[in-house]
Amino acid sequence: MPARRSDTNAKVYLVGGGIASLAAAAFFIRDGNIPGHNITILEESRKIGGSLDAGGNPVDGYIMRGGRMLESKYLCTYDLFSSIPTLDRSKTVTQEIFELNKLMKTSSKSRLVRGGQRINAPRFGLSERHILTIERLRVEPESILGRSSISDQFEPSFFETDFWAMWCTTFAFQPWHSAVELKRYLARFVHMVSGFNTLSGILRTVYNQYDSMVRPLQKWLEEHGVKSEFNASVTNLGFCHDAEGFTVDRSVFVAAFSAIALLFGTNLNPSERAWLIYGCLAVLVSIYSLYLRACSLPSRSCFIPQKQYRSLKRSQSL
Ligand SMILES: Cc1cc2nc3c(=O)[nH]c(=O)nc-3n(C[C@H](O)[C@H](O)[C@H](O)COP(=O)(O)OP(=O)(O)OC[C@H]3O[C@@H](n4cnc5c(N)ncnc54)[C@H](O)[C@@H]3O)c2cc1C
Repeated sequence: MPARRSDTNAKVYLVGGGIASLAAAAFFIRDGNIPGHNITILEESRKIGGSLDAGGNPVDGYIMRGGRMLESKYLCTYDLFSSIPTLDRSKTVTQEIFELNKLMKTSSKSRLVRGGQRINAPRFGLSERHILTIERLRVEPESILGRSSISDQFEPSFFETDFWAMWCTTFAFQPWHSAVELKRYLARFVHMVSGFNTLSGILRTVYNQYDSMVRPLQKWLEEHGVKSEFNASVTNLGFCHDAEGFTVDRSVFVAAFSAIALLFGTNLNPSERAWLIYGCLAVLVSIYSLYLRACSLPSRSCFIPQKQYRSLKRSQSL
């Protein structure tokens, strides 16, 4: 095996405190030999975890954006979390997940509900034509599918099948969504199809993913010296494309932490490098109560208790 390259001078700045940055930080430390104290996570909210959030209290209510499902082929996740101890340090997070799911196997008895009646282990109800279309999608290049939607590819009867009902309730698909996205999901989850009508094969964590995965990982990173800056909104990135790929060539402005901005661009020591990973699944998400309509809130990705929401609504005439 080639010797690992180690760059102990590398400075790493990770934009966003979601699982992507947390995982990247852990891989930089574990596999890249970069000291944790050289790594900074810049997060615009006040909390680490991004879309894997969960929290609240009995007065204001609780919020968790999704009960996320894992499955056995999340190889990178399990590899990473095999190095991360649970909060009580009794085992690794990966061990904890597999032990739980050995004990409690997912097997839904009410996979679909129709007309008030539960349907246990529904049949897919696909016609030969539907199956041929699925097969075609699996092999057709994305460039040919282009910007077509799922409804462009399938005849209307496909959307009446129990297969579609299970598919769209599992993966939040709509007929007008991209056919390419459906193709990618088919490729990614094809090994799950036999258990699709009972959800067997779906793995869960002991607690929600924030408490079972984000908190242990955050603790491990802190123990290794990784710094997290909150209320740090990174904007104004400039990119250039050279032989090495895309690099940041313009200073970064970090609201509330402008001192960090000086480290980017011109002020970097030639032996130092800055890495930026950018991406946010939930950046434009607004969360609202069951009793009030959705609206665009000034604060992104946040939970607003009803009382505060009402005063906000009054003040902004939402
Ligand atoms: C309802 C729901 C259900 C889901 N179900 C599943 C599931 O069953 N299985 C599964 O595997 N996955 C599921 N996911 C997806 C999974 O949660 C996400 O793919 C994953 O959490 C994304 O992580 P991320 O780090 O890429 O981005 P995010 O979690 O979105 O994190 C990005 C972070 O960057 C911050 N940020 C954004 N812009 C800036 C900026 N300019 N400056 C500084 N910080 C910034 C944001 O505040 C955020 O904290 C689900 C997601 C949702 C919302």
